[in-house]
Amino acid sequence: MKTSDLLLLGIVLFVLIEYGAGIAINYLNERSKNEPLSAAGAEIFDATEYSKSLAYGTAKYRFGLLTNAISTVVILAAIMLGTFAWLDAQLRSRLSNNLLITVLFIAILMVFSTIANLPATYYATFVIEEKFGFNKATKKLFFQDAVKQLLLSLAIGLPLIYAVAWIYQEITSQFWLIAWLLVVAFSLFMFVFGTRIFLPMFNKLKPLPDGELRTAVEEYCKKQGFPLSKLYEMDASKRSTKLNAFFSGMGKVKIIGLYDTLIEKLTVEETVAVLAHEVGHYKRKHVYTMFAFSNLQSLIIFALLGWLLGNPNLSRALGSDTPSFHLSMLAFFLLFTPVSTVLGLINNAFSRRNEFQADQFSIDTYPDARTHMHNALSKLSRESLDNVNPHPLYVAVHYSHPPILERLAKLQR
Ligand SMILES: [Zn+2]
Repeated sequence: MKTSDLLLLGIVLFVLIEYGAGIAINYLNERSKNEPLSAAGAEIFDATEYSKSLAYGTAKYRFGLLTNAISTVVILAAIMLGTFAWLDAQLRSRLSNNLLITVLFIAILMVFSTIANLPATYYATFVIEEKFGFNKATKKLFFQDAVKQLLLSLAIGLPLIYAVAWIYQEITSQFWLIAWLLVVAFSLFMFVFGTRIFLPMFNKLKPLPDGELRTAVEEYCKKQGFPLSKLYEMDASKRSTKLNAFFSGMGKVKIIGLYDTLIEKLTVEETVAVLAHEVGHYKRKHVYTMFAFSNLQSLIIFALLGWLLGNPNLSRALGSDTPSFHLSMLAFFLLFTPVSTVLGLINNAFSRRNEFQADQFSIDTYPDARTHMHNALSKLSRESLDNVNPHPLYVAVHYSHPPILERLAKLQR
């Protein structure tokens, strides 16, 4: 068997394994979700709410089965029919600049995948979320968001791809190291300024208005030495009724955002306890460790790329005898699936640990936070009709936050 055929076989196998494993894990999670309501779960849901949460989970599960099947068929068909090589050949017959071909190739894939995903996100928003009373977005806002997101990812992604491809073309020997340094610089920029620059394109952020909440928040922030000027209320209610809060940024550029839905549904004390959790992410330096960790991962990826990308069998596996940066890259990432799954598991475990630490920070720094966090998290779960019995495997793969009952149990200790 030729090496390129072996690689193709590997790619197809990984796509199938990922699909099969996904089905198995989702099935286990669906079964685990439907367990009878436990005593701990009964603190969150009454019987009616619980059956509603089960129905919501099932609706998402069934729809996921359909979308996963379709996307797996599409990707397998594209790989086996040589669609990527065909697209490459089309561009190559019209253009001679290799860098331009790479950028256009990626741009076409990005536009296509956005358009192809649109019916599924539309259905998820206007049928499933709508049916369970979560959706607030108008159709106009939905399409505006989709267009903005696509334009932004093109505007940010394409220059970066151009730069990496240029480095690959010009400096083959040290490509991986220099390209990695570029990506580190880029991700530093995104960690620091990402939220600040891009979030206002989608949401209005305004300082917390005067009142009982602001007074309570001022008092807490003063004690913690957190500048109040970095604290915003966000108009999340124009898209969904679900509640949340977040911390982002580094150094002097930091932001804590509270969803308006959160402020509306929680008491003043509960909101401050949640805010204290977000300050905990900042005080425990979670952004720095996440940043270091994500760049360590990209270092592994680039080291492997440096080693493998020059191999013409990568492009050949996708059906092209003319080796190209973009086809080799695509084949590489398809083959990289098992490694990225493992990295994802580590990432999620790390993030769940950070969530426990931030909860602990809230308990340590705000009076009665144990009770207030308990009530706030319970409300958050109830308002989003959370699954209170997720399967541990599903949690490992998909949860960046600990399952609600685990989190509540830890709060009591
Ligand atoms: Zn958190």
